[in-house]
Amino acid sequence: MLLTPRPRTRPRAPRHRKAALLAAAVSACLLAAAAPAEPLGVGDRLYPYLGNPGYDVAAYDLSLTYPGANDKPLRAVTTIDAWTTADLDRLNLDFAHGTVHSVEVDGRPADFARAGEDLVVTPAHPLHRGVWTRITVRHTSDPVAGKDQDGGWVRTSDGLAMANQADAAHLVFPCNDHPSDKARFTFRITAPNGYTAVANGLPTGVDRVGPRTTWTYRTQHPMATELAQVSIGRSAVVHRSGPHGLPVRDVVPSADRKTLEPWLARTPGQIAWLEGKVGRYPFETYGVLMAQAATGFELETQTLSLFEKRLFTDPAFPKWYVESVMVHELSHQWFGDSVSPRAWSDVWLNEGHATWYEELYAEETAHRPMADRMKAAYGASDRWRQSGGPPARPKPPAPGQKIGIFRPNIYDGAALALYALRQEIGRPAFERLERLWVRNHRDSTATTADFVRLASAVAGRDLSGFLHAWLYGERTPPMPGHPDWKPSAKAPGGKAHTRR
Ligand SMILES: [Zn+2]
Repeated sequence: MLLTPRPRTRPRAPRHRKAALLAAAVSACLLAAAAPAEPLGVGDRLYPYLGNPGYDVAAYDLSLTYPGANDKPLRAVTTIDAWTTADLDRLNLDFAHGTVHSVEVDGRPADFARAGEDLVVTPAHPLHRGVWTRITVRHTSDPVAGKDQDGGWVRTSDGLAMANQADAAHLVFPCNDHPSDKARFTFRITAPNGYTAVANGLPTGVDRVGPRTTWTYRTQHPMATELAQVSIGRSAVVHRSGPHGLPVRDVVPSADRKTLEPWLARTPGQIAWLEGKVGRYPFETYGVLMAQAATGFELETQTLSLFEKRLFTDPAFPKWYVESVMVHELSHQWFGDSVSPRAWSDVWLNEGHATWYEELYAEETAHRPMADRMKAAYGASDRWRQSGGPPARPKPPAPGQKIGIFRPNIYDGAALALYALRQEIGRPAFERLERLWVRNHRDSTATTADFVRLASAVAGRDLSGFLHAWLYGERTPPMPGHPDWKPSAKAPGGKAHTRR
């Protein structure tokens, strides 16, 4: 699906005829500037107001100053370098939490107004299509959630972490908050001495000035705003080497470093295992961030996946399960991070694949046959489709539950569709498809239609009918090779821990 700009339509107050005539006489540019600021979106079916039309962000530079307490706002400066794709009298950023002190466009003060979850910026002079522009916003970034707001900063026992999926990056910083607009990121995090700050990518500097230290990180690859990560805490950064010298760095509470080491030591082997399946790890570094926080989920933030520490310390979670969850988030680095969904309806491409490798790892290392889990998923699939929609057309989130799209239909339900595809085209073709998928769309975005096209090309025959039924059908099609698999009436058991 190609996203097209879709301004929010809402009834306008009737305008006085004389004023309307007068308005018609002035230039279109002024007319637009005089119209009320309104929130815009890029037309995502599930999140209509996410993202903004008219520009493409190339780089974010985020400066954050942590006051030493995680219940007070951080001082922040967000600088955005963007390429305009339309003439713009004004432009919208997504930003819904925190105070805006000032906005500059290309070094000149600009007017700004809040509208819905947007910050609407009016530059001193209109911007023409096809130019670089730099927007600088001085603001606060508030770690205390507002009413009905969920996600963004996560307050940990010793500082902060971040969980922006799907639509919460704009609770932290002004941005074009949609995965279709990936950009490079620089983070400059200033904190009192004694704290350690880590962000996506690799460090480029540590400057200690008096009582404070500034930590700078830069990503070498484009990243979606939902995958940003900033950790500030009393943390240890544990370094080791992954396959072919890949720098692996994990971030853990200093006091738990020894206890957690056996889990940290698993990562290089898991990366090697996944590289054996789908090819080279796509980024400059990897690691896990184990946060002392009650998130209820893990999150594949780029190059540094976020985990609840509890997952590794609560004996209720069996070892094989914890490891398969680690592999789930790791596999997202290929599926979801390097190759991002063009729209949120494509999120099954993230979760279906991550569930697939999670299950494959459990099959190969812990003797838990994938076919057993697939058969159980097949039994539940019709119910999942009914409650959450088919994998590639999930139902919109319920009001007030924006992460409500993360339902079983896009996890096990989507992995089931991949299983059907492997049954249909055979293991060698399926494995070739997986490798080509992450290679062809590396550092980019892709759609469900792209996947169907590539699957057909690899198989050498048109699979659009077959995959359409599996991805968009209201009923689960028959499973190739397993005519005995039937939908079951029994509700499946709940999961102890939610993956993301
Ligand atoms: Zn996931």
